[in-house]
Amino acid sequence: AFYIPPEQFAAPFALTGGEAGHCAKVLRKRPGERVRAFDGTGRHGLFRIETVGRDRVELVPESLEESPLPARRLHVAAGFSRSSRRDFFLEKAVELGAAGIVFWQAERTQGKMPGDPKEAWTAGLIAAAKQCGAARLPTLACLPGGVAGLAQAGQAYPRRFLLWEDPAVSRPLTPADLTADGDTLCVVGPEGGFSDAEAATLTTAGFVPVTLGPRVLRWETAALAVLALGLTAEAR
Ligand code: SAM
Repeated sequence: AFYIPPEQFAAPFALTGGEAGHCAKVLRKRPGERVRAFDGTGRHGLFRIETVGRDRVELVPESLEESPLPARRLHVAAGFSRSSRRDFFLEKAVELGAAGIVFWQAERTQGKMPGDPKEAWTAGLIAAAKQCGAARLPTLACLPGGVAGLAQAGQAYPRRFLLWEDPAVSRPLTPADLTADGDTLCVVGPEGGFSDAEAATLTTAGFVPVTLGPRVLRWETAALAVLALGLTAEAR
């Protein structure tokens, strides 16, 4: 499927550059044929090809649909990471149906989180959605204010979990935790884990500490395991 930005969806649209080349040279599409496109907000459908040029393919919307917002929406707040694991996580989070991804600046985050998500991160989400056929991209944000900002923003989510491997404070996370309709937020610490003060702030703010078992997982493994558990819950 081709990606068309939401503000240009549902109107004639020209693929250019690599997208046009892919359509014309790789897929060998001709005028009158149809291609699928999506806008990342849930809208998708068939577009008729009007003209095919070397660097430009003109499309006209034909039959468009809107995927309903899923009843259960799982969001992950991950301690910001500068490593390539972040890009891996973003790709897999789209495949596993994350509704939202928030990065937060934890005390033990190495380096400074940017104020806004980088364009390259959104491009990664779009590429993943093309590959797996998702019409809706997860929302993506860099949350200001460290753990206090996260504790405050978390109040908008009816269910809040803190992924914490310590069995002395956490109970096991189960699929049943993820079956309720509405928004659920799961917080994952950075590579170095939460500080005691961060964990205290979040539990005081109503985040329930939960564990995925005795092994200490990398942050992206923990986050993706939660999303996979959410898929299991969804399939029931
Ligand atoms: N060295 C850190 C420590 O000892 O606190 C380990 C941090 S771990 C690499 C990164 C994050 O992944 C943790 O803060 C936690 O949110 C999550 N995590 C890792 N293993 C987990 C487990 N077994 N259960 C729940 N969360 C886990």
